[in-house]
Amino acid sequence: MSLIVQKYGGTSVADIEHIRNVASRVTKTYDQGNDVVVILSAMAGITDRLIGMAREASENPDKRELDVLLATGEQTTSALLAMILNSMDYPAQSLMGHQAEVVTDHCFGNARIVDIRTDRIKELLRQRHVVVIAGFQGCDPRGNITTLGRGGSDTSAVAIASALEADVCEIFTDVDGIYTADPNICEKARKLKAISYDEMLNMASLGAKVLQIRSVGFAKKYNIPVHVRSSFTEEEGTMVVNEDSGMERLVVSGVTHDQNQARITLKKVPDQPGVAAKIFTPIAEAGIVVDMIIQNTRAGGQTDLTFTVPRASYKTAIEIEKKVAAEIGAEDVFGDEQIAKVSVIGVGMKDHSGVASTMFSTLAAENINIILISTSEIRISCIIEEKYTELAVRVLHSAFGLDAGS
Ligand code: ASP
Ligand code: MG
Repeated sequence: MSLIVQKYGGTSVADIEHIRNVASRVTKTYDQGNDVVVILSAMAGITDRLIGMAREASENPDKRELDVLLATGEQTTSALLAMILNSMDYPAQSLMGHQAEVVTDHCFGNARIVDIRTDRIKELLRQRHVVVIAGFQGCDPRGNITTLGRGGSDTSAVAIASALEADVCEIFTDVDGIYTADPNICEKARKLKAISYDEMLNMASLGAKVLQIRSVGFAKKYNIPVHVRSSFTEEEGTMVVNEDSGMERLVVSGVTHDQNQARITLKKVPDQPGVAAKIFTPIAEAGIVVDMIIQNTRAGGQTDLTFTVPRASYKTAIEIEKKVAAEIGAEDVFGDEQIAKVSVIGVGMKDHSGVASTMFSTLAAENINIILISTSEIRISCIIEEKYTELAVRVLHSAFGLDAGS
């Protein structure tokens, strides 16, 4: 017998028919003798609709009241599932975030979980109840309802699974797992059996559509195996696990791409202490997140410095750097929005050499120019011209042996 936490996303509880389908999965797991805790999202589209209503009610809705409103989406689905389970003669009870004692800080709209007291959940499990918990919500120490940020029911599920020391946290969604590349641009992409927490964190651009990335950090910290799978099939999905758990360590597990990038270059920057701080402090103050930074060393006490920012921040960043350039005496500032980042990710890279050279020669064979390179222990990223994104993903996917059927 195991303790299993199952989380169902919005499309899996889109209407009563779908919630019945969830009930039959839950009862199947329960009938196998397991303890089952279910975390639910709101019905698909409901959270957006509630936000729309709040905007109609007020130009600037009070943050506390907005959370009271948004939490109703998950309250609805939890009550409905518990009712359906009861009508099938299964003992079940719904718990809202505060009843499950999911204690958060008081940051409305983006609260962090600080503690989960599990007494009430454990008591219900001892009585062989199915415990249905509203995801996405908690309460602050003063009892105010809080929500955890969009997609936050994944984090609720992983946090509750860790507090209960569950055997597994199953995330049921409308995709059937994590793929080696985006199947929309790489038709040979295939589903991975397993992936490590760190790979998943590095694959945010692939994985974020599937799991709230914050939940992966949580799963890693508490070592909770997460099974990402579809609620519409019986097939196994992808296990997100600790890399030492016996999973196959692929040299490269996935190829990702990110077209939300822009590059800014400052030419002939004086090579002196304090200059980098002058360049990046105003960027940080504007709330812009810098991704890659490359600086060259040049003769004559001057250097070129290039960095990347999200495309939406490009115009602001260029304006800021024009002022900085004048101040520090850099020769020119220019940039480019038509770029993309392609990355190869894999924990097996740690004990393999030659991954970078394979990546570079694969791109070279297609005449794709590399503009910037950055590496970490398990990832190599190249900035290229945006128009080559799909080609680059496909050739890298083949070169690293990831193609389906290869
Ligand atoms: N219902 C919330 C949202 O749409 C939370 C979730 O689905 O995870 O963001
Ligand atoms: Mg979701």
